[in-house]
Amino acid sequence: MEKREAKRRIVLVPIPAQGHVTPMMQLGKALYSEGFSITVVEGHFNQVSSSSHQCFPGFHFVTLKESLPESEFERLGGIEFMIMLNKTSEASFKDYIAQLLLQQGNDISCIIYDEYMYFSGAAAKEFNLPSVIFSTQCATNYVSRCVLSKLNVDKFLVDMEDPGMQEKVVENLYPLRYKDLPISGMGPLEHVFELCREVANKRTASAVIINTVSCLESSSLSWMEQKLGIPIYDIGPLHMTAPPPSSVLEENTRCIEWLNKQKPRSVIYISVGTVAQMETKEVLEMAWGLCNSNQPFLWVIPGNNGIESLPDEVNKMVSERGYIVKRAPQIEVLGHPAVGGFWSHCGWNSVLESIAEGVPMICRPFHGEQKLNAMCIERVWRIGFQVEGSKVDRREVERAVKKLIIDEEGIRKQERALVLKDKLKASVKSGGVSYNALDELVKYLKTM
Ligand code: UDP
Repeated sequence: MEKREAKRRIVLVPIPAQGHVTPMMQLGKALYSEGFSITVVEGHFNQVSSSSHQCFPGFHFVTLKESLPESEFERLGGIEFMIMLNKTSEASFKDYIAQLLLQQGNDISCIIYDEYMYFSGAAAKEFNLPSVIFSTQCATNYVSRCVLSKLNVDKFLVDMEDPGMQEKVVENLYPLRYKDLPISGMGPLEHVFELCREVANKRTASAVIINTVSCLESSSLSWMEQKLGIPIYDIGPLHMTAPPPSSVLEENTRCIEWLNKQKPRSVIYISVGTVAQMETKEVLEMAWGLCNSNQPFLWVIPGNNGIESLPDEVNKMVSERGYIVKRAPQIEVLGHPAVGGFWSHCGWNSVLESIAEGVPMICRPFHGEQKLNAMCIERVWRIGFQVEGSKVDRREVERAVKKLIIDEEGIRKQERALVLKDKLKASVKSGGVSYNALDELVKYLKTM
């Protein structure tokens, strides 16, 4: 009788935050369908992924004995949390891999880890296992971190006092200027630089997988290929190459019925993602600006942040002119013909999802990486424009919404967004660049 060959295992190590988990799980799904067995390693800070285990039948989930609880995220802030998470998780991860090798023999093809979970690289090295880095952010951000990792914090701070330096384009990386490097709003600069150095260190990884597509970022991708000297698999946008799992978080599908009643390309959709939060004052200014624009709007406000505290007259006005949800089925919303623009914090998934549907954007980034994405939207792809944080008042909101939805300039931006939409579609269909890159990646992992 023919012996059935055991499946080769891929160990996935995501960051437990939705914007990172989602593309990692989409990658897992794509590899599972190619015959790999999938093990997902999580820390204690894993609320999002534990609630969605049921969406991934056949996946094996393990929780590390030691990592950091979610409360530490609030206490330390994002960057220090990541550094500490790596320090506390390394020993437990090594124990887990040692145990796996003992129990299963070596069935591990590869450890694929989120670029920020670099402790996994140390374990791969110790056990002499193949490893691949997965970047869920844009290639320009990867490149920027490599640039920052080579700079000295003190000298950089002095240099940046010179406005000429701020405007200077980083060598070979036009149009990236020094002032675009993703550092603002990220916490103490020495920690930001430390994290950049750790993430830029590829350790023994033999390739990088990245959730982007060459028609958006060809020069950053070539830079990465040249500087890292290992293959780069640009397989994105993953929500198009590997269909997303149905979310178990409550998504208000009634908003689609509301959208069905609106005129084509008239609605502005507002969401600032799963982590950023608008302050109450910004919610109030936003509410006035949206209502004064006279355009219908669909607005995601998670939890009870802000809207309940609005004065009654504003609350009434908002519910007459717009539709508020705690969570929206974002991809479906962006694909709806009534949606004409996206007011976004510019998280990378949101950017890809908006471009994939040809929706132009108003950018309201909160911190470094989002600001970098906003720069690309405004200056490289020219499919949107930025509002500065300090300028989010009702007049600015009204002006921005009218500019995007009504003005000629907004229509030009939508036309460019539609051109990119077609390019993305072509990339992920059979024979397209992202499709081929995923195919190559599968072949490469099968050789391990
Ligand atoms: N999202 C959603 N519905 C919402 C808000 C967000 O489906 O109401 C999804 C969105 O489609 C995207 C992800 O949550 O895939 C947010 O990721 P992103 O990288 O844009 O931002 P982050 O939340 O990581 O800041």
